[in-house]
Amino acid sequence: MIALDGVTRHFTSRDGGLVRAIEDIDLQIGEHELVSLVGPSGCGKSTLLRLIAGLLPLTRGQVRIDGQAVTAPRVDTGMVFQSPTLLPWATIEENLLFPLRMLHRPVTAAARAQARELLALVGLGGFETRVPSELSGGMQQRAAICRALMHDPSVLLMDEPFGALDALTREEMSLELLRLRRERPKTIVFVTHSISEAVLLSDRVVVLSARPGRVQEIIPVALSYPRRFGMESHHDFQHCAQRIRALIFGDRLAAAE
Ligand code: ADP
Ligand code: MG
Repeated sequence: MIALDGVTRHFTSRDGGLVRAIEDIDLQIGEHELVSLVGPSGCGKSTLLRLIAGLLPLTRGQVRIDGQAVTAPRVDTGMVFQSPTLLPWATIEENLLFPLRMLHRPVTAAARAQARELLALVGLGGFETRVPSELSGGMQQRAAICRALMHDPSVLLMDEPFGALDALTREEMSLELLRLRRERPKTIVFVTHSISEAVLLSDRVVVLSARPGRVQEIIPVALSYPRRFGMESHHDFQHCAQRIRALIFGDRLAAAE
């Protein structure tokens, strides 16, 4: 479904130096698979997601979705950023319809019905005519996820979508994502800095190394579905989480034990 071939992106820093953000990433993600990207801060997770989204040109290599090279944003790809990025003056429903307006598509009754259906799905039924400031951070992020789902994209890219939320809302949102995934299966690439979130949600976890970001190891998560929070005490869960921690912290962790 998504194929990364030798994906490389360099930047020029302000002082003119070369920043090798990510290098030679090869990765295949299957249809309806949920893959998490984890790794130290600055290892290129957001860059990689933006490359898959077609928001950023590659230095080298290729990204393909359904066999087609990605060179620009695709209508069948939805993106969710760390902060909800809603238009503050527009109602929640209008925020969901905004991408359509951007594409100069007609805002049909069917589109409005779709917006309402999605909002109901994530527990925001009745909030359609509110503006973002009337909603909590978690509710705003749910609305931003709905906006990304408006076209019913086959690919969903999520960059630390729950990162700014408090721990309880975060857990609630994780369950919401698992439920959404059951009801509308999608291919999802999920960036997180939470190891337990990555293990709980994913089919596979890709651990990236520090700059330049490369694939260090890919860890399959053998836990059964439906996933539940109680699974954190499960042996398979602990095993995956420990392996990821060891890869990220390496000798520093070993020294602390
Ligand atoms: P992560 O999301 O894993 O924290 P990023 O993908 O945001 O990492 O950044 C990876 C590296 O690339 C960092 O060193 C960052 O400073 C650099 N970088 C990202 N975007 C730019 C840019 N537009 N210009 C220069 N450097 C950038
Ligand atoms: Mg980032």
